[in-house]
Amino acid sequence: MDQDIERVLVHERRIRDRVAELGARISRDYAGKDLTVVALLKGGVVFLADIIRSISIPMDLDFAWASSYGDRTTSSGNVVLKVVPDTNLRGRHVLLVDDILDTGRTLARVSAELTDRLGAAEVKTCVLLDKAARREVPVHADYVGFEVENVFVVGYGLDFDDRYRNLPYIGVLKPHLYSK
Ligand code: 5GP
Ligand code: MG
Repeated sequence: MDQDIERVLVHERRIRDRVAELGARISRDYAGKDLTVVALLKGGVVFLADIIRSISIPMDLDFAWASSYGDRTTSSGNVVLKVVPDTNLRGRHVLLVDDILDTGRTLARVSAELTDRLGAAEVKTCVLLDKAARREVPVHADYVGFEVENVFVVGYGLDFDDRYRNLPYIGVLKPHLYSK
């Protein structure tokens, strides 16, 4: 796998330090509130597994899975929830965790579902990566690990064609691998 990576954008050690910082901030910000972390499958699970172990307050955990019909490296306008959280979110303070905020379509759609349909009191968002330059809908992340440039990245949960999620760092794939 390493041989498919052109360069490493965020090393394992930097991810670990940043995730610990975010977890500590979340613990302070949500102290005394009913926190439910909802992670987006599949890309958010590696980040999720690390960040919840830096959260030191009581919390519930659930999952959602959004799919969008687009090409293989971007999301399209059509985001639907194919897995809906199964716990009662009514009145809960939800922290939505995902790997990356790109156009914003996924988080905008999922946040709206969690509040409008499932009755969450509040939805905030936490992403490991933010590609601000790519935003098409007005969403901001409340907790961001790293701002990244406009390149396609893999690793630490992020895939290309469902591969590379298990890389422990964030890297840029060699372009010939996804342009063919
Ligand atoms: P958005 O709806 O914000 O455009 O896209 C969010 C989703 O697109 C992410 O959950 C992720 O699955 C995918 N995505 C966006 N940028 C990248 C990227 O650079 N690499 C990978 N692997 N997935 C990305
Ligand atoms: Mg994804």
